[in-house]
Amino acid sequence: MNKNLIALYPGTFDPVTYGHLDIIERASLLFNKVIVAIANNPSKIPLFTLKERKHMLELSVKKYKNVEIDWFNGLLVKYARKKNVSLIIRGLRAVSDFEYEFQMSLTNRKLAPEITTIYMMPNEKYTYLNSSLVRELMRLDADVTEFVPDFVIETFKRKLKKI
Ligand code: ADP
Repeated sequence: MNKNLIALYPGTFDPVTYGHLDIIERASLLFNKVIVAIANNPSKIPLFTLKERKHMLELSVKKYKNVEIDWFNGLLVKYARKKNVSLIIRGLRAVSDFEYEFQMSLTNRKLAPEITTIYMMPNEKYTYLNSSLVRELMRLDADVTEFVPDFVIETFKRKLKKI
């Protein structure tokens, strides 16, 4: 069977980290197309605007011809159906991610039985890395060059100047 496999990688990406990019690269090698979808969730107040998060992701994935960046409001499974995608990718870093991801994936399956969530593990050097840690470190003016691309640091510095 020759399926045209499209995968959806949703998240907040506030901001994108090398952990996210590890998962995106793995997915881009496995699937015909990967849609990285930024959740525009007003109840979570992000540090970076949707426009900034989208731009930083776009710069990060320029080298992959089969990866596109998009965003969505509201229910993920509704968005997946609209895009005609039945495969969702999530990253699994440690056991601590498991409980939440397990609940989310079963809930999404209840809402949309035709959609399957699969999990990928990043390189172990990224297993402790998350966006909130990066935000905290940047606020404390720590060196985060090992965790995020340079343009993330530049975007943060530009924001600081405006405040
Ligand atoms: P969310 O708020 O939806 O969890 P995130 O932007 O934090 O969004 O993460 C999006 C996805 O990327 C999630 O599946 C998360 O587990 C995964 N992820 C985040 N950081 C890493 C990392 N360092 N390594 C692998 N996967 C990660």
